[in-house]
Amino acid sequence: MKSERKSGSKIKETQPIKIKPHNVASERQAGSAHSPLRPERRIGYAVVGLGRLALMQILPAMTKCKYSKPVALVSRDAQKAKKVALQYGIPETSIYDYEHFDDIKNNPEIEVVYIVLPNSLHEEYTIRAAKAGKHVLCEKPMSTSIASAQRMIDVCKTNKRKLMIAYRIQYEPINRQCMKWLREEKFGKVRLITSINAQNIGDPEQWRLKKALSGGGSLPDIGIYNINTARFLLGEEPESVLSSIYTTPKDPRFTEVEEAVMFQMFFPGGTIANCTCSYGVHESRHYRCYGDKGGLFGVANAFAYGGLRLEVSHVKDNLEWNAQPSFGAEKDQFAQEMDHMSQCVLNDKIPYTPGEEGLQDLKIMEAIYESAQSNKLVKLERITKLDAFRGTPPKKD
Ligand code: NAD
Repeated sequence: MKSERKSGSKIKETQPIKIKPHNVASERQAGSAHSPLRPERRIGYAVVGLGRLALMQILPAMTKCKYSKPVALVSRDAQKAKKVALQYGIPETSIYDYEHFDDIKNNPEIEVVYIVLPNSLHEEYTIRAAKAGKHVLCEKPMSTSIASAQRMIDVCKTNKRKLMIAYRIQYEPINRQCMKWLREEKFGKVRLITSINAQNIGDPEQWRLKKALSGGGSLPDIGIYNINTARFLLGEEPESVLSSIYTTPKDPRFTEVEEAVMFQMFFPGGTIANCTCSYGVHESRHYRCYGDKGGLFGVANAFAYGGLRLEVSHVKDNLEWNAQPSFGAEKDQFAQEMDHMSQCVLNDKIPYTPGEEGLQDLKIMEAIYESAQSNKLVKLERITKLDAFRGTPPKKD
C-alpha cells in the first residue's frame, strides 16, 4: 500500500515564532525559535540498519527534526531493536527483520525508508522499499557500481517514489556559505580547491575493508566527500580526472581495498580540485578555496559531523586578515538533511540531492580508478549546465 499525502499542504505552524532581540541591532542576531510540525503531521521514517551511524547520529538527530520522526526500525538483532524502539517510542509491532522487510508496505506510518546499511546492500533495500510504496533516503555512496545506481533510480521512477542520497554537507550552513562566496566570486574567481579527508581505520575485519560490501576503500567511503563537495561548491561537473593510488604493502587492512587516493578534478570553468583521501593517517577533514583577488576561504573539520569552522584569509588595508567567522549555534546536519527530504515529500518536490547526484559521483569515482590504473588523464562527459543533477534547493531556516 502506498502512503499518500496531499501535496502542497500549508505548514503554518512551522512559521518561526518571533522572539524580540535582547541585544542592540549592531550585534549578531539570534535565529528564530525551533518550530516543529505537530508530531502527527511529521513524516515517518523507517531506519534500516542499526549500526554506528544510525544509533549515534541519525536517530538522535530525529529528536531535533521539524518535519521528521522515527516510526519503524529494521534490524537483524531483535534485542537491540527492541531497546532502541523503547528509547524512541516506536511500537514493537513496527520492528522488522530483513526477511520480513517487505511487510513495511502494510504500515502506513512509514513514508520514508532511510537506508543505513553497508554500501552493496543499498540497491536491494532501495528497490524493495520503492516496491513497497515508500520514498527512499539512502546513505552515501549510493551503491557500488554505475549500473546498480541506475537501477535504483529507474525503480524509484517506475514506482513514482522519491530517491534522495544523504549528502549532509550540501544542507549544512557553513558549507552553503562557502558555496555562495565561491559562486559570487567574493575573493575573485576560485581557481584552486584543495581538499583532504583522512582517517586511520582500524579492525581489518570490518565491512569497509571488504570489497564485496564496500565497493572500494577510502575513495567511495570518504573520498566521495572531496568529490561531492567540490562539485557542490562549484555547481560544475569535472570534465577530466587524473589520479594515483597508494596502498602500504602487507598492511592487513588493505588486502582487498585501497588505502589512499590522490586525485585532481579539472572543471570546465578552469578550477582544479586537488584532493586526497586516506585510510592510513591521522584524522583530518578540510578544504580551502583559493580566489584570485586577495582572499581564500574554507572549512576546518569540513566533513565531520560537528565542530566545523569557517576560515577566511583576505587582504584589507594592506594587512592579511585571518578570521574564523562564527554562525553561532551549530545545526545538526542529519536533521537538516532529513527535514529536507520530508519537505520534499510534504510539498511533492524533487530532493536537492536525488539519485542522479549519487550516480554522477559513481561515474567520477570509476574514472578516478581508471586513471590510477592507466596512469593517464581520463575524460568524463562534458556537462555545461550548472547544478545539472540537483533538485529543489533546501529552504533557508
Ligand atoms: P555499521 O557497520 O556501523 O552499521 C551497518 C549496519 O548494517 C549494522 O547494524 C549491521 O548489523 C547491518 N548489516 C545488515 N546486513 C549486514 C551485512 N550483510 N554485513 C554487515 N552489516 C550488515 O556501518 P555505518 O558506519 O553505520 O555505515 C552504514 C552506511 O552509512 C554506509 O553506507 C556508510 O557509507 C554510511 N555512512 C555515512 C556517513 C555520513 O556521514 N553520511 C557516516 C558513516 C557511514
